[in-house]
Amino acid sequence: MLGLMQDRQLTLTSIMQHAQRLHGEREIVSVTADQPLHRYRYRDAFARAARLAGALARLGAVAGDRIGTLAWNDYRHLEVYFATSCAGLVCHTINPRLFPGQIEFIIRDAADRWLFVDPVFVPLLAGMQDRLGSVAGFVILGPAGHAERSGLRNALDYETLLADAPPAFDWPELDERSACALCYTSGTTDNPKGVLYSHRALVLHTYGCLMADGMGIGARDVVLPVVPMFHVNAWSIPYGAAVVGAKLVMPGPRMGDGAALARLIAAEEVSVAAGVPTVWLGLLAHLRASGERLPSLRRVMIGGSACPRAIMEEFETAHGVHVHHAWGMTEMSPVGTFNSPSADFASLPEDERWRQRLSVGRPVWGVELRIVDAEGRELPWDGESFGSLMVRGPWVCAEYFRVGRGPTHTADGWFDTGDVATIDPHGYVSITDRAKDVIKSGGEWISSITLENTAVAHPAVAEAAVIGAQHPHWDERPLLCVVLRPGASATREELLAWFDGKVAKWWVPDDVLFLDELPHTATGKLSKKELRERLRHYRFPGAKCDTDRLESEGRK
Ligand code: AMP
Repeated sequence: MLGLMQDRQLTLTSIMQHAQRLHGEREIVSVTADQPLHRYRYRDAFARAARLAGALARLGAVAGDRIGTLAWNDYRHLEVYFATSCAGLVCHTINPRLFPGQIEFIIRDAADRWLFVDPVFVPLLAGMQDRLGSVAGFVILGPAGHAERSGLRNALDYETLLADAPPAFDWPELDERSACALCYTSGTTDNPKGVLYSHRALVLHTYGCLMADGMGIGARDVVLPVVPMFHVNAWSIPYGAAVVGAKLVMPGPRMGDGAALARLIAAEEVSVAAGVPTVWLGLLAHLRASGERLPSLRRVMIGGSACPRAIMEEFETAHGVHVHHAWGMTEMSPVGTFNSPSADFASLPEDERWRQRLSVGRPVWGVELRIVDAEGRELPWDGESFGSLMVRGPWVCAEYFRVGRGPTHTADGWFDTGDVATIDPHGYVSITDRAKDVIKSGGEWISSITLENTAVAHPAVAEAAVIGAQHPHWDERPLLCVVLRPGASATREELLAWFDGKVAKWWVPDDVLFLDELPHTATGKLSKKELRERLRHYRFPGAKCDTDRLESEGRK
């Protein structure tokens, strides 16, 4: 027997309309390239989103069209989020930090119709625009005047587009299973793959994340997403804040600037912030040096890569800020687990508490987890057995966009995350390893295989291995280990220069070690596990200099 309840669709439009009616007066504050501090209200954001939806219709965008964005976190990007998804279009956020070749691949694979870009990314697109056949034109996220001198074909200024658009838009009734957003995985071993989110998935994910033991954001909160809007919908914070009516504070291009973040947190009285570990290192270093305090900040959510204990301790002891560790991935919209204290936390011994705190937490309702061995047999939740972490749930990817390889999961619906984990009897998950040897730098992935392939193309190199070595600021940075061909010679500087123009600047290894041989497994494969073990005491020389170099390249 079927229930007799209304079949209203779970759509992002319902979130927008709810926020418009209930939280219209709540503020959204942004740093943008053209304004040091822009402020307006939810009702302004949605009024402008309606104009944008009308403008897109005039530009010929039809249901299902992908509308790409290359932009930092600010109010204009937020308007594009809601206008596209709620009009039945697909908001395709693109990571501008990727290597240009990958960006081009992604835009072509997604067949984006229009691209909305911050002025700073115009030169990046100018170089590839002739190869972007699907793209009808470009909208530059700023005031009038940028388009004309952009060098991009069919370029429009965002503010002019909005000013000329009709003020009202008739939002369509959408099927909750229709696509609303698209984000590509980092593509470490393969080309990047598109994860196509549905309205239903993102609404349920938002519900799940908002729970008290999840992000637990409420109407009185002031939320600062330092996690980029170009990466998995900024962990759904833009939607969650709209549901509850939290004030939103968007850092724009100042995401990696500790001093700027501290100023924003203090001035706007931010209570909850979220981001990858690296951004917090910058903020904490600034607070240490300046002696500033952040009395409004209560909680920080940290995920994307493992959160070091030192960050948690410093936030808590020096600033009274509670850190929640979280884990997820692009294919999971992205949140899978969230760390909040268990019911018996207060009575646990100190080391047990830390074991729990450093884990990535428990699955958010809606996500089922299990760990399996190499034969696919389920392993016990004993905190000791480790195996491949499998997930299933309504916000987990079922199939990649366009790839055409069929489902991404087993017959009974389990998706292999590629992570290796233990789960304790209370459901706390610890990520023990990455199945692949990807290097996580500042919360972003670097493919060791790409770097190795580039290195071995150098005439003097016989064999190469790249591993992620610990870095005080970036978590990990690539370390290149090479064996030279007999009789050949090459210096550290020559080898590093070899990467110029072949990979993104921030992928270039930070150091080179010349070895007589590299360790191999019994089947003749490179054993990175052993290499990491041998080099576990390695530290980058002059890590500070590397940080400066990366920061000057806008990698922050
Ligand atoms: P992405 O799809 O780029 O968001 O990357 C997802 C991957 O990042 C996961 O499969 C994990 O390997 C890693 N990851 C995410 N959060 C954490 C965390 N809290 N601790 C350790 N690894 C993490």
